[in-house]
Amino acid sequence: MTTGPKLKFCPESNDLLYPKEDRERRKLVYHCRNCGYQEDADPSNYCVYRNEITHTNKERTVILQDVRSDPTLPRTRDVICPKCAHNEAVFFSASTEEGMTLFFNCCKCGHRWRDYV
Ligand SMILES: [Zn+2]
Ligand SMILES: [Zn+2]
Repeated sequence: MTTGPKLKFCPESNDLLYPKEDRERRKLVYHCRNCGYQEDADPSNYCVYRNEITHTNKERTVILQDVRSDPTLPRTRDVICPKCAHNEAVFFSASTEEGMTLFFNCCKCGHRWRDYV
C-alpha cells in the first residue's frame, strides 16, 4: 500500500513526469514535458490522481470529465439517455451553484445531463 503520490521520472531524460489525460484512450498517462516520453499510469496512481483533482480544482472539472471509464462510480439502468435512448448511465453528484446536483453520463454516447435533487 502506498501512502501518497509517487514521483515518476523520465527514463530518457530524467525529467519529472506529469500526469495527464489521454482523451483518445480515456486513460491517465504520465508524460515528459521535455522529450515527449509517455507511459500509462497504473490504477493505484490513477486513484491518487483523482483525489488530487477533487482537492485542488473546482468541482466543475470533475463535472466536465467523461466518467464512463471510471470503475469507482456507480451505474444505473433506471434512466434513459435523452440523446440516444440508451438505458445505462454512470452517475455522480456534485455541488454546483444550484446546490447538490446529480449528473448522468450515458454509457453509450457519452451524453451528460443533470437531475436536481
Ligand atoms: Zn524525457
Ligand atoms: Zn446516450
